[in-house]
Amino acid sequence: MGVPITIVVDKASGEPVADAAVWDHVVALIAKEGIDAWDGRILAGRQAELFPAGWLAKHGKTVSDFEYVQDILDVWFDSGTSHAHVLRAESAAGQRFHRTDGKRPADLYQEGSDQHRGWFHSSLLTSVANYGDAPYESVVTSGFVVDGEGRKFSKSLGNGVEPHELLQKYGMDIIRLWVGSSDYSEDIRYSPAAFESMADAYRRFRNTFRWLLGNLNGFLDDAATLENLPELERYMLHRLGKVLAEVRGHYEAFQFHKGQRALYEFCGTELSNFYFDVRKDILYCDKVDSPERVACLSVLVQIFKGLVTHLAPLMPFTTDEAWRERYGVCVHLGEYFVPDDRMTGRPDDGVTGLAEEGRWEALFKIRSAANFVIEKKRVAGEGGANIDYKIEVLVGKDVSKFITSDDTEMVRLVCGVSGTQLKLNGDEGIIGVTAYKYEGHKCPRCWRYYEKLEAKNGLCLRCEEAVA
Ligand SMILES: [Zn+2]
Repeated sequence: MGVPITIVVDKASGEPVADAAVWDHVVALIAKEGIDAWDGRILAGRQAELFPAGWLAKHGKTVSDFEYVQDILDVWFDSGTSHAHVLRAESAAGQRFHRTDGKRPADLYQEGSDQHRGWFHSSLLTSVANYGDAPYESVVTSGFVVDGEGRKFSKSLGNGVEPHELLQKYGMDIIRLWVGSSDYSEDIRYSPAAFESMADAYRRFRNTFRWLLGNLNGFLDDAATLENLPELERYMLHRLGKVLAEVRGHYEAFQFHKGQRALYEFCGTELSNFYFDVRKDILYCDKVDSPERVACLSVLVQIFKGLVTHLAPLMPFTTDEAWRERYGVCVHLGEYFVPDDRMTGRPDDGVTGLAEEGRWEALFKIRSAANFVIEKKRVAGEGGANIDYKIEVLVGKDVSKFITSDDTEMVRLVCGVSGTQLKLNGDEGIIGVTAYKYEGHKCPRCWRYYEKLEAKNGLCLRCEEAVA
């Protein structure tokens, strides 16, 4: 397979005819009639037409003085030399066919996994032969899209799907998320169920943006401060920085599905189920400018910027919409936002060190145990949310390495309950939680329970201050 090499050789000298007039004539013929203009004339004995009118007579020749090459330029050579036309060679002067706006070598060659012995190979051979180096810095190969049973799409099976139909049904961002979530190093299975689960992932990201935009409404970046953050905020900033760095690493390795998975887990497990849940109380009930509330909002700004810019390649329209909503400019003209982690902790406070990793591990173990115990009570008919309970927590020495008697409020916060008692003298390996319905007084504003509501207006002291 290939295209004709349109050369005429003089039989007497054995030299090809190197006359631009002949070449231009052949080019014009092919431009007009297509690629068969060459072979068609040779096979039909009309070789004279391959020369401009009067050319043979002028040179004292006849058609039988020449041989007409019927070799072809192999398609692999043809496509394999595309680098010579598309990329700019920085070596060797006089590269007349080289564009001036392409970078050489290319950042990336991307094709199907059947091209290892095809395009990638012929490109490498021709480039090394001509310029002494490879035409690409990276090569990414992908599998093919197949149906849910792993069969190739085919018309006769009727198992194919048209991209534009998916586009109409799900929208561009969900299709892109689906591609981004796929391990393309193997064949990618398409099934309607896969798209439904992608729609769920899309909603998780979108809802996270909406929640952040809603809570940040009216809070300007200028008001944000990362000085003197509470431990929980420092921890979240530290986690955000870690997750985003991991995501960028995956993107740089073209492992988009791993980046997406990390962001998906972070939004679900660490933000929605934990941080947002735990901080709802101060966001909704604290005085607007309470230091804790401002600290939380400051971290939410960092989370918003980090998430939106890192999801921008995977869901370009939705991220752009979210970004414009807050900043009024296009997210795609900016760069990945890297959170400011200088404030995640002093070097000696260990937030980023192993001791603190152990501390948060311990806090999360207590949280899981508390959720488990309260859920059992809920199911058994006692009902209520975590805030309706108080808990007694008994931990063993392995955990009490990381938790002190000063951490009663921290444990209460992390577990989302109204009250906590902490006992640190349990046996090794023990995390025991007992939960009771809080038989105190419920603040009608924030729904937290207290032994008594001390404010004159029947609220808790915090709420009294907030409404003052
Ligand atoms: Zn209250």
